Amino acid sequence: MSLLIVGSLAFDDIETPFGSSLNTLGGSSTYIALSASYFTDQIRMVGVVGSDFEQQHFDLLHSRNIDTRGVQMVKTGKTFRWAGRYHYDMNTRDTLDTQLNVFADFDPEVPAEYRNSEFVCLGNIDPELQLKVLGQISKPKLVILDTMNFWIESKPEELKKTLAHVDVFILNDSEARLLSGDPNLVRSARIIRALGPKTVIIKKGEHGALLFTEDGIFAAPAFPLESIYDPTGAGDTFAGGFIGHLTRCEAITDREMRRAVLYGSAMASFCVEKFGTEKIAAVDLLEIEDRFQSFRELSRIDG
Ligand code: AMP
Repeated sequence: MSLLIVGSLAFDDIETPFGSSLNTLGGSSTYIALSASYFTDQIRMVGVVGSDFEQQHFDLLHSRNIDTRGVQMVKTGKTFRWAGRYHYDMNTRDTLDTQLNVFADFDPEVPAEYRNSEFVCLGNIDPELQLKVLGQISKPKLVILDTMNFWIESKPEELKKTLAHVDVFILNDSEARLLSGDPNLVRSARIIRALGPKTVIIKKGEHGALLFTEDGIFAAPAFPLESIYDPTGAGDTFAGGFIGHLTRCEAITDREMRRAVLYGSAMASFCVEKFGTEKIAAVDLLEIEDRFQSFRELSRIDG
């Protein structure tokens, strides 16, 4: 099934207590697309880059069969840039710099051949741009949205307007508290579901994720890893694995949503094992299935 992804394509400067990486390929849609590419080969990307985005970066996306005809290149501008520093626990980070660059004047134009996309993933960018993209898709089967504190703080009303058109909303615990104004995550999820999305997923970094649906709550652990190099993109990679799994399901049931959360968690666990997109660009399908099974074993108590 076809999956349209909009979000940032970026160059990131990342610092962790254990190393750093400058000018590395990142961006919400890059991580989402790479992660989802292990589940469907009909991925379409909409976004914008500057003249500093090189052929090798496109080649990497094409090597995973990702269609980038919807990515505009603004020759006079620079690609979006983000810099972040992780704290010692690797679970929290400070954003040091965000430069919107070509995203500041981006007017997304969804190519005609993408408008019949069945699944839509609105990755982390300006919520007004997310809505503009969604308005150009004829009849999506499922729309998921990811965002971050930057947009909750700077464009809360625009975000709420966009959320009214969304089926699944993915955000992390501090973002959920910020958006709902409530410190309790269960109540936060209820408040956020009332804004539109029937399904809300709250990610809790190394403590896993909570899925809130009409049918109840499902808790998934995060994979206990000995070495975590770089958590950047883990949230987007989670979203890519989550929606990727759903694209291959005949029906989107509560059970498949739960399995999708485990696939998302499995993909995110690969992402953090190397810097940037290095690991997520080259996993193999057996590894993914293995980790999915390990996830199931993690909290199983029956035989
Ligand atoms: P995550 O770690 O999943 O939150 O995603 C990190 C990625 O999001 C990085 O590769 C950044 O380039 C990108 N990013 C950071 N801030 C923003 C923002 N305000 N809008 C869009 N993308 C962003």
